[in-house]
Amino acid sequence: MKAVAVRPGTPNSVHMQEIARPSVDQIEGGMGVLVKVLKVGVDATDREINDALYGNAPDGDDYLVIGHECFGVVEAVGENVKRVKPGDFVTATVRRPGGSIYDLIGTNDMTSEETYYERGINLRHGFLTEYFVDEEEYIVRVPQGLQHLHVLQEPMSCAAKAVHQAYEAQRRMKVWNPKVAYVLGAGQIGLLTTLVLKLRGLEVFTLARGEAPNLKAEIVEGLESTYVSTSQTSMTELVKQTGRPDLIVDATGFSPLAFEAMEHIGHNGVVVWTGITGGERKSEVPSDKINLEWVLGNKLLLGSVNANRGHFEMGIRDLALGDMMFPGVLEKILTNPVEGLDNYQEMMRLLVEDKDALKVFVNVASA
Ligand code: BGC
Ligand code: ZN
Repeated sequence: MKAVAVRPGTPNSVHMQEIARPSVDQIEGGMGVLVKVLKVGVDATDREINDALYGNAPDGDDYLVIGHECFGVVEAVGENVKRVKPGDFVTATVRRPGGSIYDLIGTNDMTSEETYYERGINLRHGFLTEYFVDEEEYIVRVPQGLQHLHVLQEPMSCAAKAVHQAYEAQRRMKVWNPKVAYVLGAGQIGLLTTLVLKLRGLEVFTLARGEAPNLKAEIVEGLESTYVSTSQTSMTELVKQTGRPDLIVDATGFSPLAFEAMEHIGHNGVVVWTGITGGERKSEVPSDKINLEWVLGNKLLLGSVNANRGHFEMGIRDLALGDMMFPGVLEKILTNPVEGLDNYQEMMRLLVEDKDALKVFVNVASA
């Protein structure tokens, strides 16, 4: 069957690879789920893997099948599978366990080992193919009523984790009742984080470069939040209007902004970094000022990557509630469909060149 792959280490090596069709009995103990892939989303991670900035092939292969945001339908299940059945819509988690204690309790996203195993990203093949098989543990059911939001499940799981982690960490405060949040960046993670925070009752300001009106602003406003164009209003000016925020989530992928957030967070507040910056950019920061204010304000910086099964389930609940509360808004994120695996060059071109593409995804097959 067809798969879209790269040769790790070789820039711009995206190509079509012929691979064997998997079967449900490849997974031990009757726990296998065979999934027919319907749609796969791609993001900056896929672009940077194709740029050979990171990503490794599984042992024994010289290629890596990419794609980690999948939406599919169950084709077959092993005899001991309980949670899904043929015909169910599903997505799959990305990270697979290593050997640390966190990996042993289903929290692979929190592994303490340097090496991580991620389907479509590092040491495990991804989903940009026709079928894949995996253990029931990693397959998450997607409600029928959310099929129009298909490939958003995985990015949503990362947004859900980032916010959940902030609340978990803020238990240090005994009482933490955040009112104002800034979300930096209005790409898919920024927009989905806006939703998660809005549903938690915060007043959300989502900051991005482009001037309104534009699609990002339309989506943020559709989520009853405030879009702020940083080309018109700097973070410093915004703070004068709103007061210092209690929570800032950076989802820009631009490290100078991740550091700038540190200058604006309020006392007892938390800054969450979700951006993955594959480059080598260096920038100057007012380190004395930040150091002083952070100590005097008991501030917290948190990195958040990936998501485990629980975060997928949280994300799905928020997508469902969000779709009820703000009908028609979330699907606007799904901007750029590409027809079929054969059009992988067009998929990469959109990822690299189209700065307005909020979400590029491949229609692999229909149900
Ligand atoms: C993926 C995450 C992954 C991270 C680091 C992101 O693009 O969505 O699941 O953990 O990259 O590889
Ligand atoms: Zn991703």
